[in-house]
Amino acid sequence: MNLLTGQSELRDLHAKVAAGERLAPAEGERLFQSRDLHALGAMANVVCQRKNGNRASYIFNRYINYSNYCILSCQFCAFARKKRDADGFQLSVAEVVAKGREALALGATELHIVGGLHPSLPFGYYVEMLRALRALDSRLQLKCFTAIEVLHLAWLARKPVRQVLLELKEAGLDSLTGGGAEIFGPAVRTAIARGKESAEEWLSVHRTWHQLGGRSTCTMLYGHVESPADRVDHLERLRSLQDETRGFCGFVPLAYQPGHNGIAVTTPPTGFDTLRTLAISRIYLDNFEHITAYWVGLGLKLAQVALSYGADDLHGTIFEEHIFHMAGAAGPQQQTEAALVRAIREAGRVPVQRDTFYAPLKVWEETPLPVSEAERPPSPVLEANLATG
Ligand code: SF4
Repeated sequence: MNLLTGQSELRDLHAKVAAGERLAPAEGERLFQSRDLHALGAMANVVCQRKNGNRASYIFNRYINYSNYCILSCQFCAFARKKRDADGFQLSVAEVVAKGREALALGATELHIVGGLHPSLPFGYYVEMLRALRALDSRLQLKCFTAIEVLHLAWLARKPVRQVLLELKEAGLDSLTGGGAEIFGPAVRTAIARGKESAEEWLSVHRTWHQLGGRSTCTMLYGHVESPADRVDHLERLRSLQDETRGFCGFVPLAYQPGHNGIAVTTPPTGFDTLRTLAISRIYLDNFEHITAYWVGLGLKLAQVALSYGADDLHGTIFEEHIFHMAGAAGPQQQTEAALVRAIREAGRVPVQRDTFYAPLKVWEETPLPVSEAERPPSPVLEANLATG
């Protein structure tokens, strides 16, 4: 059934979304029950267009993992290692800075830095790392640490979370990352990330950061053991905190990667599930400006299609991705700026290079379109076939 024919089961919800009305959790679950993907995409595009017009963004960023040693063993995680493991690593501050300097020289505007909960690195290591990176260039934006890392640092420093965040901010932290949210529902959380911080703790760290004037992103790991109701509950909790603080810049749904972990689910989410999840996120999170199609988990081709299903951002160049690839992500570890720009333009959107807070740095509107498959002259072979029927 198609929304445009007037037959869609979602017609009443489409009318609410078109009128700018908020959907209730039960209506969010109705969206997940629908198989009318085109209708979901059309509804998501109403919201996306209203918020972002015809623009879609990307960021010139670099990932740095300072260590994969972690005191926890989340069942879904393929990244963490113990000190006894041969492939564990930790970088010195000088090594982190060298990677940052290299990224800066290539034009990166953001460093995205996370790691495991290291058993012995002192709090001073993290402060020194931020100070040294900040000294490289005051304009380089430092997006670092998940909420569970912040709790770990507070435990290490024997200080309240608020104080730790203030000290990190003073040392150069611009934004928290959105990782570690997984699924907030306690039963699923225990099944995939036993021992990790609770939903309330995750939300509390971000709330405190926002109260200090900071901004952050947020995520949802989908496609494993959670139900549609768990996803809606997750979105609802994020929407509530956003109502309270307005501190989230964007939402980044993360497609579960099934490799090398302790969860029995052996396939990643399908294309259908990914597109509907992005679309429903766009529809439900009416107080979020931006929804990211994270190409690392989706592949750039599906991420590009997602630009027609509510997403308005493709994330970044990244340079060196480990966490998803250690869990089996098959694609490249980086994208060129040209590849991201081309993907956006072919999808009919105006590419915008953004900063950490989604502010535009460069709008590609005035530059000539790159030659793409869609813009090549018609193939003579295809023309001949059409002529002969
Ligand atoms: S998800 Fe994070 S906290 Fe959990 S085991 Fe992996 S690195 Fe550690």
